Amino acid sequence: MYDWLIVGAGFAGSVLAERLASERNERVLLIDRRNHVGGNAFDRYDENGLLIHQYGPHIFHTNAKGIFDHLSKFTEWRPYEHRVLAAVDGTLVPIPINLDTVNTLYNLDLTSEQLQEWFAERAEPVEEIRTSEDVVVAAVGRELYEKFFRGYTRKQWGLDPSELDKSVTARVPTRTNRDDRYFGDEFQFMPKHGYTRMFESMLNHPNIHVMTQTEYDDIRDTIPHRRLIFTGPIDEYFDFRFGKLPYRSLRFKHVTLDQPQFQPVAVVNYPQTEEYTRITEYKHLTGQEHAKTALTYEFPSAEGDPYYPIPKAENQELFKKYERLALATPNVWFVGRLATYRYYNMDQIVGQALATFRRINESIPVRGDG
Ligand code: FAD
Ligand code: UDP
Repeated sequence: MYDWLIVGAGFAGSVLAERLASERNERVLLIDRRNHVGGNAFDRYDENGLLIHQYGPHIFHTNAKGIFDHLSKFTEWRPYEHRVLAAVDGTLVPIPINLDTVNTLYNLDLTSEQLQEWFAERAEPVEEIRTSEDVVVAAVGRELYEKFFRGYTRKQWGLDPSELDKSVTARVPTRTNRDDRYFGDEFQFMPKHGYTRMFESMLNHPNIHVMTQTEYDDIRDTIPHRRLIFTGPIDEYFDFRFGKLPYRSLRFKHVTLDQPQFQPVAVVNYPQTEEYTRITEYKHLTGQEHAKTALTYEFPSAEGDPYYPIPKAENQELFKKYERLALATPNVWFVGRLATYRYYNMDQIVGQALATFRRINESIPVRGDG
């Protein structure tokens, strides 16, 4: 008899498995339908020995020291500050939009103060910022919005920014200085030996049994367990009874080139023309030295594995119906990006898993039925 069956071996499932096994000495069965642990953060060496991220670029960043310290038990780190360029009007310029972006694109020589005025002259007053269009046009005006955000967002989400919650484009700030880092967080690192090694170290515990290529539906009635933690799509758990929750998917095209470098930074975004949204070159992230280089192109799609919950009021309403069911389902905990239908980063998922562990500790005695 397992104390816990955990469905999904991504950050949510793996962080909880480790906590339950080591802090409560409980027996955990952790399953995943994929043939590996790590969820979407899974990385692997390709046939040439280049470390790649199978499900697109994953860069760890957080302001929460507790979350960073927790993961530091399972990995060493490589300091890495993420920088992204956007291919706009035939030039590569920094995104988030900053002083250099505007000066380069418009052949200007503005100071930070002048750029503030420049933005103010172009920004459109928006009474209430509700959508992903409002956020950007209210900050930098319509022209930069169209160059950097409208096309990328339409590709990425299959929706116009005016149809998406403001939280989506609000992830990308606007700067008037020359800071060209993608994230402003205090802790910005990559796991020194990759994410998969970090997960393996987290799950290396005698109380944890991992089964990959295992569907929840195939074992739910045959493997006895007291409680369940579910980190897959919440609508799937409830057999889509209120209808499907939309999740956006991606097709990844992994390419190896017989040259040491392809582009100047880890990620180049394509907001205007191409079918793909961005190209990632992993060596910038991993620091690996190699005669060849590995890239991933991301092609957004409606079909395929669920990757992104789509932040939109009507989807949130549908999610709330499932959430009410979840709250009324005893002995099952719903955790993670797919089960709580939120566009969370890795650190937020670790934080959510640690908070869930605290709630479990407060409400259930070890191996108890309470
Ligand atoms: P997942 O990693 O999705 O894990 C859920 C697991 O459950 C999956 O492995 C799935 O196979 C399994 N599963 C589901 N249903 C079942 C079932 N019925 N039976 C068995 N197994 C099942 N975050 C950052 O912080 N920085 C980044 O740079 C970043 N980049 C990203 C880039 C892309 C392209 C994507 C898609 C996401 C990115 N993220 C990034 C977000 C990050 O991937 C997530 O926050 C995190 O991986 C979510 O962890 P999770 O455990 O909730 O879900
Ligand atoms: N975005 C954009 N242009 C860019 C970068 C981002 O329009 O060059 C928008 C787009 O809608 C994207 C969102 O901002 O989905 C969030 O970007 P982020 O880089 O955080 O996306 P993720 O890495 O999560 O896919």
